[in-house]
Amino acid sequence: MSCDFSLEHYRELLRAASAGGYRWAGFDHAPEPGDLLLRHDVDLSLGAALLIAEVEADEGAWSTWFLMTRSSFYNLDSSEGEGALTRLRELGHRIGHHAVYPDVDLDDRFDPVVAWHNPDPEFMHAEIAGAVNVMRPPFFEPTHYRSDSNQNWRGGCPHDELVRAEFEWLQLLIHPEIWAFEGETMRETMESFLDADRAARLERLRHDRIDLS
Ligand SMILES: [Zn+2]
Ligand SMILES: [Zn+2]
Repeated sequence: MSCDFSLEHYRELLRAASAGGYRWAGFDHAPEPGDLLLRHDVDLSLGAALLIAEVEADEGAWSTWFLMTRSSFYNLDSSEGEGALTRLRELGHRIGHHAVYPDVDLDDRFDPVVAWHNPDPEFMHAEIAGAVNVMRPPFFEPTHYRSDSNQNWRGGCPHDELVRAEFEWLQLLIHPEIWAFEGETMRETMESFLDADRAARLERLRHDRIDLS
């Protein structure tokens, strides 16, 4: 098995968790032994989010999707954004808020759970009034946490440990863009994202009756 950041290996990760006997869990109760809290911070692409969400549903998994209201890359208020919210719920996923400090825009689109975007150490673990901060106990403990940030697993790709049920419980942070777009390095993956984004924007221009002849 090669630990690349591909859809194939993502499927293998999900299957590893099932093989290890883990149960999909959210941020509505303190983690219990056997819980796998699958979390996604969506920084760049709702399309990538939906692609990964469909793979999870296909594998019998569900997760919590943290979506931004102040993204520079996508608009949750657009028809694309509304469609993504609807589809994620239809597939049985949960939706939290990926907030840009210090603004918390919790409304009825979200469960009362927040993951800060690019948090600084000063507020990363601080309490948030009226909401769960996913980076606070009981949901966050360093030995019960893995993240794929920048295509660099600190502590390694967890698939072997999942199969062997070596985590009592785990919060697993997966950025969908890393797995949905191809690239051996983060730079290459971002180039793939930008190519796809350009193509999608050209399509939107056509849709808006811009003459591209
Ligand atoms: Zn792996
Ligand atoms: Zn983020």
